[in-house]
Amino acid sequence: MKRFMLILAVLAALGLSGCVSAPADSAQAASGQLVVLHINDFHGKLEADAQGQAGIAALAAYVKSVRAANPNVLFVSAGDFNTGSMVSDKYDGLIDVEAFNMLGLDATAVGNHEFDKSPQALARQMEAARFPFLAANIQKDGGPAFLHYIVKTVGTLRVGIFGITTSDTPIKAHPLKVAAYDFSSEIDAARNTVQILRELEHVDVVIGLFHTGTGEGAGPVPTDKIVAAVPGIDLAIDGHSHADPSAPLVIAGTPIVQAASDGRKVGHAVLTVTAGKASLASWRSVPMNLKGKDGALLGDAITPDPEYAQLIKKYVDEINARYAVQIATTTAAYELGDRLPRKQETALGNLVADAMVWKARSMGVLADFALMNAGGIRASLPAGSVTRKNAYDVLPFGNTLAYFDER
Ligand SMILES: [Zn+2]
Repeated sequence: MKRFMLILAVLAALGLSGCVSAPADSAQAASGQLVVLHINDFHGKLEADAQGQAGIAALAAYVKSVRAANPNVLFVSAGDFNTGSMVSDKYDGLIDVEAFNMLGLDATAVGNHEFDKSPQALARQMEAARFPFLAANIQKDGGPAFLHYIVKTVGTLRVGIFGITTSDTPIKAHPLKVAAYDFSSEIDAARNTVQILRELEHVDVVIGLFHTGTGEGAGPVPTDKIVAAVPGIDLAIDGHSHADPSAPLVIAGTPIVQAASDGRKVGHAVLTVTAGKASLASWRSVPMNLKGKDGALLGDAITPDPEYAQLIKKYVDEINARYAVQIATTTAAYELGDRLPRKQETALGNLVADAMVWKARSMGVLADFALMNAGGIRASLPAGSVTRKNAYDVLPFGNTLAYFDER
């Protein structure tokens, strides 16, 4: 009883009572099936690339086809839908929000890149969104900055979905843009929220949206460490590390899944609930018209949804009219690869640093060398014609070039 009172007190303190809806009769253990589609680190990739890979129109076609074939579908994002393409960024991510609204996105975790633009831009996105931004470990003005969780009824199942954001966001995002927020322990927040979902909300299924990552590129407290410390999560949907596993990573009985990045794949999980116990029946990550080195499709061809192609067309046309202007030509592509500049010297990384030296010298600063954060390099440059739009995609963060004298 004491524990129950404590949880009630926590709920009241967090002002989250609006989330609580009448639990199902707990004497009746639920059974059913649930399909969960998930993306992570979409990074504004509304347009398909030059090879016709990814893009919101293919993603929409896939989500709609799964919804047409299944009554019980959730579609969620594990964060970082912001930052990474001119079309998305020039409109402050609002085109992405509009597209996700149309697609009935059920929830997104708050990723570190959701803070890139400005607190005002984030507020406008949240106002425009018909889906919640979830983060159980971010506070503002002494209270929760975002909803910690939601409960959705899908068919006969009560599904709890919560979000966790990497606690190193204050050093990953621009410090001034996150100054108003306090980030607390990922593990404590996940544990408290799962306890509320299980013991107060009596949900049948608990899904965590973790913008914390696993393996290379993970935050300081990676998702595998969180789920190892927090029992009761039926499915951990991961993001942030742009991992592209072929099978779930199961830690202490909890499957962790992630679906690459940039809308290149969609995770497709099937959960079955039998006598009140949820388990992962199957999972795969579905390529969105991705092609192998030989140019052959890696999965089934997906016909892009014309409604979504139309939605972005006017914005893409507007951007192209201004920025698809050739500024250079290359004899070979400058490849980003699998985020290679983070791991080794690359022609692309050298080009970026050389460009910084060139710019400094053109301003009369006798720069000897330049340093670039490899994580800020976000796209390849194509072979042949290079446009301003291509250059923007390489460096989408709008960073400021700074120099210092070393005497
Ligand atoms: Zn991230």
